[in-house]
Amino acid sequence: MKNPRQSPYRKERGRIVILSGPSGSGKTTLHKKLLLSRRLKGKLVKSVSLTTRFRRPGEKNGRDYLFVSKKDFFRKRRQGHFLEWKKVFDNYYGTPQKAVGQLLNQGRSVLLCIDVKGAKTVLSRHKNTFSIFVKARSLAVLKERLKKRGSETKTNLALRLKIAREELKEARRYNKIIINDRLNQTVKKLESVIYRELTKEKKKHVLSTD
Ligand code: ADP
Ligand code: 5GP
Repeated sequence: MKNPRQSPYRKERGRIVILSGPSGSGKTTLHKKLLLSRRLKGKLVKSVSLTTRFRRPGEKNGRDYLFVSKKDFFRKRRQGHFLEWKKVFDNYYGTPQKAVGQLLNQGRSVLLCIDVKGAKTVLSRHKNTFSIFVKARSLAVLKERLKKRGSETKTNLALRLKIAREELKEARRYNKIIINDRLNQTVKKLESVIYRELTKEKKKHVLSTD
């Protein structure tokens, strides 16, 4: 029997939006601009992952990542802290389960900038996830961007490019593939694709509760 005090309206939950793509494809640059966009501000919030990798110059603990030791990461993993976690390029990365759940319950959509394996895990648990794969025009462009960023040693750069080839094969599984060529155009495209998707759900929801 229905609880008479219960609202007749199903509480609207936010959605998970995944942004994946090879290292150097522009995920960090793009999501930072995206979160400032007028249409998505407040609606879309980025989940802050935990990582065991070293902090790059300019990165801030708690904003870009939560930088933790391997010991802490493994302890949290044992405690079931993660919605998903993966070892990427010799470091561990994980999405905090509770923080994401809280945001979704508040009706906010959550952006996860995660690798293709992590994306698979999330998609298997949250069917309603919207997934976007971002890539550079070519591997040569990707290599140039990574070199220019200057964050990687020679060995690390080679590893990131090797993995990029494998990740690119997974692009077709995503809802949308976006080529990050001209930065401003890519941001606009990304913004409108996500906005359209999030508001489409809302319209459907309003119709279903009418
Ligand atoms: P990711 O987070 O996917 O590893 P970044 O956002 O760090 O990639 O981008 C890699 C490098 O490429 C950075 O130095 C960034 O400034 C640069 N970059 C990103 N998008 C573009 C673009 N559209 N045109 C030129 N350079 C770009
Ligand atoms: P970077 O070290 O360049 O910041 O990130 C390396 C890779 O790890 C990128 O592909 C990035 O998307 C991925 N990554 C960052 N956070 C997470 C996470 O929480 N889970 C997973 N699976 N991958 C992540």
